[in-house]
Amino acid sequence: MRSQNIIETIRERLDIVEVIRDYIPSIQKAGKNFKALCPFHNEKTPSFTINPDTQRFYCFGCQEHGDIFSFIEKIDGLTFMEAAQKLAAKAGVQWEGFSMKTMTENDRVRIELKKVMELASLFYSRFLTSSNAVKAAKYLKDRNVSKESIEKFKLGFSPIAENMFVNEATKRGFSKELLIKAGLAYVKENGQITDYFRGRVMFPIKNTIGEVIAFGARALGDFQPKYLNSPETPLFSKKRTLYGIF
Ligand SMILES: [Zn+2]
Repeated sequence: MRSQNIIETIRERLDIVEVIRDYIPSIQKAGKNFKALCPFHNEKTPSFTINPDTQRFYCFGCQEHGDIFSFIEKIDGLTFMEAAQKLAAKAGVQWEGFSMKTMTENDRVRIELKKVMELASLFYSRFLTSSNAVKAAKYLKDRNVSKESIEKFKLGFSPIAENMFVNEATKRGFSKELLIKAGLAYVKENGQITDYFRGRVMFPIKNTIGEVIAFGARALGDFQPKYLNSPETPLFSKKRTLYGIF
């Protein structure tokens, strides 16, 4: 089946109301539409609507809108192709191959971003076991964080020394621009590109399918601020991602 046909078949087989109900069980019928509290912004009265005729959603509060595919992209932090694969499985549609040709430039960037976040997670968790991270290991031990939890949540430590992650990632072929886009590096006043996280216990933040999309980080010692999260990136939106959802 060609990918365009797959997309059309998914649309025919799935109802956006039922797909969204899996994420927001409290949706209610309101006239010919459905209403719910918006998953994309904080609110107390529902302004998120789903129109079963057009199979589209719209939020009067934050103006998020789209179809079944963009809903999954946004709520799960996926690319269009990943969202389509997920929905294909749900619809029982055979997905023969993940074609790079049908990916947009945006999709390609997101895939690169996910790769570099994965590398960062590995780098920080390995660094936590090094002799330069004795204080961080002691901090976690004092807080009664078990070895199993450290392993399970892939906790890590970011080096105090400047540029260790930037050097590691560029050595592996990732561009400095990508590191900045991923929120793992930033441009200092003197124009130098340096690590965003330094001297911090690192908590990976994952999307609903378990991919690392951001970090929460707690400073050890004098680094300010004490708590620092990844900035907003194409993968990570603070208002959309619930820590620990995975
Ligand atoms: Zn909204």
